Amino acid sequence: MGHLKQALIKQTEKANHILHLADIAHKQSKILCCCKRCGLQKTYHGENLSKHFSSKLSIYEIGPKIRCKSCGTKNIASKAI
Ligand SMILES: [Zn+2]
Repeated sequence: MGHLKQALIKQTEKANHILHLADIAHKQSKILCCCKRCGLQKTYHGENLSKHFSSKLSIYEIGPKIRCKSCGTKNIASKAI
């Protein structure tokens, strides 16, 4: 039984670690996107992003789909804030 419980806790931790756009939109959190080339930072409301992207995307997958307004690269890191 102890083993099963540990496995369940690990599973929950894993699920919590990877946030998806649906989670962010639901909590009305924001996503911080930072350009890896020029350093431009921009925050997006999860709710707005969920209108343009699939809510099944993890927040880490959103960065590369956004184009930097300063230098035009898609080399962007994203994280929840
Ligand atoms: Zn840039």
